[in-house]
Amino acid sequence: MIPNQRIVALATEVGFDACGVCVVGDLVEEKDRFKDWISKGHHAEMAYMAKNFEMRMNPALIVPNAKSVISVLLSYKREDLSITTNPPKISRYALGPDYHGAMKLMLFDLMSRIRAEFGAVNGRAFVDSAPVLERAWAVKAGLGWIGKNSNLINPALGSYVFIGELIVDIDIEPTSVEIPDRCGNCTRCIDACPNGAILSPRVVDANKCISYINIEKKTPLTEQEYSMLNGWCFGCDICQEVCPWNKKAAIKNHPQLQNEKLNDLLPEQFVNMSETEFEKLFAETPLMRAGYEKVMLAATSIYQQK
Ligand code: SF4
Ligand code: SF4
Repeated sequence: MIPNQRIVALATEVGFDACGVCVVGDLVEEKDRFKDWISKGHHAEMAYMAKNFEMRMNPALIVPNAKSVISVLLSYKREDLSITTNPPKISRYALGPDYHGAMKLMLFDLMSRIRAEFGAVNGRAFVDSAPVLERAWAVKAGLGWIGKNSNLINPALGSYVFIGELIVDIDIEPTSVEIPDRCGNCTRCIDACPNGAILSPRVVDANKCISYINIEKKTPLTEQEYSMLNGWCFGCDICQEVCPWNKKAAIKNHPQLQNEKLNDLLPEQFVNMSETEFEKLFAETPLMRAGYEKVMLAATSIYQQK
């Protein structure tokens, strides 16, 4: 069995902020919770969430002979910027180059280092890109717990983290026991959500969640949905901003997640921004996922409500 310390050391060399390993197994609790969430329609129009259910629960269906899941975290916490605090606001995770690419490159680097040290290893890297329950695997690897806002919370890094996995066909000693829930009696995220989208601890109704409405929803927003944006034209950080674990988390400023152009972005730049300007400013950022029209309609409606 491969010692987990070597895997964690290699992940640290690559530049990840945290790494943990767990054995591939059945996600019994998550299976029930996920089924219940889907059956109540809390996934809104995200039909893809209901697909590939068995695959989501069993990595061996994605990677033949999968034995271990290596989970890694990379912090994107940053100082407050004008565009994260003054409407129309953009979620912190989107203020840099697209994290999928940066994380994938780092995961490929980690895989090469593992192969160089331990020989032939088969596996795949995942960053939001496949039917993988990334938060559940990170919890099993001892990297944190799922907060009441349904984000993974790491005691040192908070919840402003990108999560990635390598699912591999080698036996690696698991890193540690799971970290118990440390939310305690706190309900700040539930109380702060302007739309009451956190129905109960760890249950978020996407239909009411700003991040779903201004990014994922594909059909045009209704008047009521525009009125639910609460100043956010892309994503929403409210339930993370109020979390005490994020206040004490260190800022890492990873260079691969920085984009100086966006650091200086002012909310008023959205007024009359052309499509060409938008694409120049946000090329290769997550905002391209929603696209010019959707972001500008949201930004305009926020200006009108001011
Ligand atoms: S992201 Fe915003 S809208 Fe969604 S649950 Fe958190 S506070 Fe509520
Ligand atoms: S705000 Fe409080 S309840 Fe919500 S995730 Fe953070 S610690 Fe947990």
